[in-house]
Amino acid sequence: MPLTAARYETVIGLECHAQLRTRSKLFCSCSTAFGQAPNRNTCPVCLGLPGTLPVLNRDAVALAVRAGLALNCTIHPVSQWSRKNYFYPDLPKGYQISQFDRPFAENGHLDIAVDGETRRVRIQRIHMEEDAGKSLHEGFPDSDRNTHIDLNRSGTPLIEIVTHPDLRSAEESQEYLTRLKEILEYVDVCDGNMEEGSLRCDANVSIREPGAELGTRTELKNLNSIRFLGAAIAHEADRQAGIIDGGGRVVQETRLWNSAEERTVSMRSKEEAHDYRYFPEPDLPLLVLDEPWVARLHGMLPELPAPRRARFIGEFGLSAYDAGVLTSTRALADYFEEVVKLCGRAKDSANWIMGDLLRLLKDDEADLKDLSAMPLQPAMLAAMIGLIDAGTISGKIGKTVIEAMYRSGESPEAIVRTQGLRQISDTGEIEKIVDAIIDANPGPAAQVRSGKAGTIGWFVGQVMKATEGRANPKSVNELLRKKLAG
Ligand code: ADP
Ligand code: MG
Ligand code: ZN
Repeated sequence: MPLTAARYETVIGLECHAQLRTRSKLFCSCSTAFGQAPNRNTCPVCLGLPGTLPVLNRDAVALAVRAGLALNCTIHPVSQWSRKNYFYPDLPKGYQISQFDRPFAENGHLDIAVDGETRRVRIQRIHMEEDAGKSLHEGFPDSDRNTHIDLNRSGTPLIEIVTHPDLRSAEESQEYLTRLKEILEYVDVCDGNMEEGSLRCDANVSIREPGAELGTRTELKNLNSIRFLGAAIAHEADRQAGIIDGGGRVVQETRLWNSAEERTVSMRSKEEAHDYRYFPEPDLPLLVLDEPWVARLHGMLPELPAPRRARFIGEFGLSAYDAGVLTSTRALADYFEEVVKLCGRAKDSANWIMGDLLRLLKDDEADLKDLSAMPLQPAMLAAMIGLIDAGTISGKIGKTVIEAMYRSGESPEAIVRTQGLRQISDTGEIEKIVDAIIDANPGPAAQVRSGKAGTIGWFVGQVMKATEGRANPKSVNELLRKKLAG
């Protein structure tokens, strides 16, 4: 990792684009499904053919407002659509319909934890806009000569969330993006899939001596993972420090992150920057949001990740770390709460989910945002915790049972029955096995009797082996101590 000269402070403001989870596009009824055959999801409106008119998608507005509310913004009762004009092959109309000087949401905030302290990142504005299509430069037999255009994405609804320059390091910026992604997922506004481009981030970066005026910034475009965001900011801050230390001046420009070479490269300078010639969109009226409707949307917001974490700590006695893991997606937090509700044992539920279930899910590279198709449903895990609690199976056997439930979807009772995993608690039965093992091993038995207590563990192991782990460990220990007493 590069080290920006200690005397500089890095200042960052982020602009994040999130694709709204609607079924159809912002101004037409074409599907927004990802991964379709190129140009299949298009119509005269999103192809930009002359003579068409946009019709606003109400669901998109509802999702945008949900995001604004979840990010503590003021929702303006009246906002305005504007045209953002530029020429690009994947923009057939020659403009994007966006919002400019009258966005629908402003003045929000998102709190992040930095070194155990809460820091507030102010959100300047959120506006809605339609996405452009995609230029495909690779993957075709003639890609060395031609660029292909896919307009499936053209007209897809986006929100852009712009922060004030309140972030002070690559790590803080990563924390902000992590929390933003989590909130957008919790409120079902955006699927947060950065690989598919549903969430993309531009970082504005400058450096200054602490307390000085803001320095000249550069804008790093299209950072499509949390890791790249951190790496790009750290390297860019370093590059700027090198320029200033060398007596130079940072020029305001747009740069791209090259992850292979781990550096940012210039894309266009301020002089080459677009003049978008924004003007109010003549084909759409002002966007008027009915206040009772906004209030209803507010009332429908789910519990957000930060208050849910706090509640898990207070209500279930979880550590901050455990609460953080268990609330990392809404589906996982719901799962945990359902298990606790059914078995009444929060700490055990947390341990089984964090230790065993998350490992199984990770091995399968499962998506923690949707656990509904997982064979192991909460009631089954709760029942297994009940079996351990009742002494029907041991905790160790639980590890076998949870994996079997995860793979087969069978109930823990059925698995215990068919695989013969029931714990042997009948002391008479255990005593027979203990006697047999002592008889077969007179040497070690004599050693324990002569005071070498350490080897008693070896006998416990032998009994467990003989019973395939099913003997009640407490009874085994008691019996061995009694029979091998000096
Ligand atoms: P533009 O209209 O060019 O996008 P804005 O003033 O709206 O410029 O700012 C865009 C983003 O850049 C915001 O996230 C803001 O916080 C950030 N920003 C502005 N000035 C600086 C600076 N000097 N250093 C770092 N970030 C900055
Ligand atoms: Mg900008
Ligand atoms: Zn269309």
